[in-house]
Amino acid sequence: MKLEQAKILVTGGAQGLGYAIATHLQSCGAFVIIADCNAEALKNLPSTFELHALDVTSPEQAQRIAKHIVAEHGHIDVLVNNAGVIFSEPFVNIMNPQNMMHDYQRFSDSLKVNLDSVFIMTSAVVEQMVLKRTKGVIINISSISAHGNEGQTAYSAAKAGVNAMTATWAKELGRYGIRCNAVAPGFIGTDSTKKSLSEPILKHIMSNTPLRRLGEPYEVAKAVACLIENDFINGAILPVDGGLVI
Ligand code: NAD
Repeated sequence: MKLEQAKILVTGGAQGLGYAIATHLQSCGAFVIIADCNAEALKNLPSTFELHALDVTSPEQAQRIAKHIVAEHGHIDVLVNNAGVIFSEPFVNIMNPQNMMHDYQRFSDSLKVNLDSVFIMTSAVVEQMVLKRTKGVIINISSISAHGNEGQTAYSAAKAGVNAMTATWAKELGRYGIRCNAVAPGFIGTDSTKKSLSEPILKHIMSNTPLRRLGEPYEVAKAVACLIENDFINGAILPVDGGLVI
């Protein structure tokens, strides 16, 4: 698919990787719609983007935005499921029975925002793609944590689920001309990564990465563009991690 003039919805695009993805796709000529639950952050974004406040965990809001974009712009070419929240919660905490319900609630919340939301947004957008007979593309932002990561039971389970849905949709939706791929970033130097990880941990991560550095947000964005542009890539989970998971 050509990026020029493509109508692309990026969730969680108000900051971090989502914003880098939106900016890169726009620089390639795409018409980019950003949807994010952080209404304050949306206010600071350039008006060259179409901006919407949206909670990706709400099926009603997902249906509404998909129908709105089709009513205003005719169809949706690409959905980038980027919105997510990185939860860390050592599993050993459940050995204290008082933590059990609290941790289970956090587990459920993490699955809702990192896994259910991808199902909810994709269902709403694919319905419109099929109705409009659009040869569309779904890009899911996964993570290397899908392979399992210490202290991230829920987040890792959610991202493994995202990978499984990516493969399933690649198989099921191909007959409608809809492709589905994922990008699996490693450690990317976003503000949230730098704020959430201490200097010694960042150094440890870099020394374990064959390329000895963090990734840049634009490097994830370029991988998203590549998967949109190449019409024969379907069902790929593309690592962008400097070789960390080899
Ligand atoms: P971030 O916290 O900087 O940005 C996430 C964005 O998603 C925010 O703008 C936030 O408002 C939005 N969001 C959160 N919950 C939402 C909801 N319910 N509805 C709508 N919007 C919502 O995070 P990031 O680091 O840019 O991560 C973006 C994606 O990349 C996530 O899916 C994350 O799991 C994945 N990822 C990031 C890294 C990394 O190193 N930063 C690595 C691997 C995977």
